Parts: sequence; structure tokens; C-alpha cells
Amino acid sequence: MLLDVQDLRVARRAPGPDANSDTASGPARGIGTALAGVSFRVVKGRILALVGEHGAGKSLTASAVLGLLQPSARVTGGRALFEGQDLLRMSDADLTRVRGARIGFVVQAGHTTLDPSARVGAQLMRAQSVHRAIVKAEAAWRAETLMSSMGIAEPRLRADAWPHELTPATVQRVVLALALINEPQLLIADEPTAGLDITTQVQILDLLYLELRRRRIGGIIITRDLGVVAQYCDDVAVMFAGQVVEQGPVSQVFARPAHPFTRALLATVPERLAIAGNLAFGGALPPAPDGCPYRPRCPEATERCTTAPPLVGAGVHAARCHFARLGAA
Ligand code: SF4
Repeated sequence: MLLDVQDLRVARRAPGPDANSDTASGPARGIGTALAGVSFRVVKGRILALVGEHGAGKSLTASAVLGLLQPSARVTGGRALFEGQDLLRMSDADLTRVRGARIGFVVQAGHTTLDPSARVGAQLMRAQSVHRAIVKAEAAWRAETLMSSMGIAEPRLRADAWPHELTPATVQRVVLALALINEPQLLIADEPTAGLDITTQVQILDLLYLELRRRRIGGIIITRDLGVVAQYCDDVAVMFAGQVVEQGPVSQVFARPAHPFTRALLATVPERLAIAGNLAFGGALPPAPDGCPYRPRCPEATERCTTAPPLVGAGVHAARCHFARLGAA
């Protein structure tokens, strides 16, 4: 197992009364639960999609695993075993050695990860030298070779460019190159094509997919686009209100969604997760109802749903619902 996240819990300070104005009964301030026990696994060479509404906790999960939480949030429980080592209990120094080397990552608005005051090639060289002893000539050669395999024309010329001189598509290719330059075992990409035009999105996703496959890297793609999940991912973990409510191979989950929320998501295609009453919320979660957190919106709720459902599974396909239709045709 490459990455095994178990019961990950994060608490976060709510941003303030205004930010929570759409949840009138919610806490205006104070610490609240933001991740309520997230569990999923990434297998070497397979790509997992973390999917769900805005505010479900997808990016927060990635930040917690990478040790990149904002000061307003903290891990309160769980484990994130990366090749058997718990990332949540590593020292900052050890985590820094893992992040960017054994785990590559592409954050939302990836262009912001580029240093505007450094040439592209220099940034790719620096990304290597902070993780290992490497002579300049070799670092430059590796940078240009990788830029070339990222589909960047005239890599030597581009290596000399400043980030602002590049097109958005080339910038994103450089961001991917930065994530891959140290040959990680795992790559986490958070909305890797956000803000790009459709044509470029497809190019970048194709490139990401091919590189992950070619290098046998495990991947996590965070997305709200079910088309991306269907086309590029092997497994999917569906998040709702800071929990994974359904997970399994994409083919099984999409063919036989076991959880009512997953069925609602799939029913919105092509509207893409624009479900009424979604969690557009940037702080801690609103107070959960007793029992199943999806109960207020679930068309299938019964009295039994006032008790929290466990994650029940049939093989690799599992869902957190008392009435999960696992294995149903
Ligand atoms: S446990 Fe009940 S409320 Fe929750 S998803 Fe299942 S049917 Fe709906």
C-alpha cells in the first residue's frame, strides 16, 4: 500500500460570522470539526479521485496529509501511512524531505508555486538540489529533459524564461515538471487544471495521466468534475461533510452507486455537482445532525438514519449508509 489514510480528523477555526452567514444555525466562531474521520487508500500505480462538493474537505485532506495546513487548522486524530511511515507524526524536517521528493504535489492555482523572480530552469534545478547532492550540469540536463517530455518546445530556451513570459498552458506544464522532477512515488494534484481553457485542460490531464502511468506513480486527483474521474482515474473516494461516504473502483461506483449522495452527484452530470444546498463553507463544518450527516438532504432517510451509519463494504466497494446498495444491479 502506497498511502493508507485512516480516520483522519482535522479541527479548524471558523473564519468569522460573515463567512458563515448561509448557515445561520452554525457556529459563528470557534473551533469546529472540518474532517470527521477520512479514510482511503492509494495503491502504487493507480490513480484515486477525491471528489465531492466545494467545502467537503478534499483540499483540506491533501493539506493535512502533506503537512501544509493553515495555522487555523490542526490534525486531531488519525494516521496517514506513506509506505508504512505516518506522515502525521513526522518531524517538520523529515516531512520536508518527503514532500517534493517522494511525494510530488500540484496545488490549486499551480502557477502561484512558481517563483516570479527566478527563471524556470533555475527553479527546476533548485527543486532537485534541495533534496539531493547534484552537480549543476546534471540538474540542468534533467530539467531540460523533463521539460521536453512535458511537451514544452525548445526547452533550453524556455528554461531561460521568466514565469510571466510563458503561456498559462506552459506554466502548468512547468508546474507538473516541478512536481515530477524528483521522481516521486506519489503525486497529489489538487484541481490541476483550474482556470485553464478546455483544450489546455485536456492536454494537461492527458499529460498527467500518461506520466503517472509511465512512471508507475500512485496519484490522487482532487476534482469536482466527474468526467475527469471517469476518464483518468482508477478508484474514487466520494467526500461529503468531511467524510468519505463511498469508495471503490470507478467502474463499480459509477455503475452501481451505493450511497444516495453519490447517486445525486451522478444525476447532476453534466451540471457537475451543482446540487442545491451544497456546502459552500470555508471553515469548520456546520453542526452535524444526529446520525447520518447527509440526513437533512437525503431523499431516502428513515428513522434509522438518526444513528450514524458505519462504512460497510462488499470487497473494495464501500459506502457509509445504512441502506447502501452494494452489489445491486
Ligand atoms: S444513512 Fe440514511 S440519511 Fe444517510 S445516506 Fe443512508 S439513507 Fe440517507
